[in-house]
Amino acid sequence: MPEGDAVYRTAARLRGALDGRVLTRSDFRVPRHATADLTGRAVVTTLSRGKHLLTRVEGDLTVHTHLRMDGSWRIMPTGRRTAPGDLVRLILANERWQAVGVRLGMVDLVRTGDEGRLVGHLGPDLLGPDWDPDEAVRRLRVSPGRTIGEALLDQRNLAGIGTIYRAETLFLRGIWPWRRVGEIEDLAGLVSLAQRLLEANTSHAGTVTTGDRRPANQTWVYGRAGRPCRRCGTRISRGEMGTQPQERLILWCAGCQRG
Ligand SMILES: [Zn+2]
Repeated sequence: MPEGDAVYRTAARLRGALDGRVLTRSDFRVPRHATADLTGRAVVTTLSRGKHLLTRVEGDLTVHTHLRMDGSWRIMPTGRRTAPGDLVRLILANERWQAVGVRLGMVDLVRTGDEGRLVGHLGPDLLGPDWDPDEAVRRLRVSPGRTIGEALLDQRNLAGIGTIYRAETLFLRGIWPWRRVGEIEDLAGLVSLAQRLLEANTSHAGTVTTGDRRPANQTWVYGRAGRPCRRCGTRISRGEMGTQPQERLILWCAGCQRG
């Protein structure tokens, strides 16, 4: 699942292809907006907000998309055919480039002035210009009895963390994922580390938290269930957190992250 850093990179690619150019085609393949047509309007820009993408178009319109589990935006020269079998939900094209939204989890079209209805609930964006660690900590502290693992994934507390950064950040701080928020003294250090990890991955594909980009060495615990911890040798544990149907994958080292 794409996390904040991947969405941030996607926004940059969309800006490169669409910003300032007039749309020659828009094709919304979602029932709600099937008749929408943005042809003739210039794209102003695309912003990421947590895991949401906001593509602003002339005339006070914003295309809102979310990659959810396995969505992606592909950029290709206009006119090139998409791969057969691709579940295309939206195409935005200008004379030169087309942005093809595949398997998008959400596609919406709203007034730009109404963006707040879509993303106003989000906590501080770890990769946003307005990142505010104090506000993220304040929001986390509102529910001291919650597990830190669940609280970090709640985008209302802070926006951009998914299961990879959750697992990696908690490992690096030595925090057992089921510890209660109220038991963690240095929440500021925790959210700042998460922010630094995401930021370090905004300029290249993939998620590297170890500083070692070789494919087998990129993470401490994520993707390493059953393998020895890089620090203490304990086998990495794998489980799920949260209540159905919201449970999500968690990996941790029982040696380094004690309850
Ligand atoms: Zn360990």
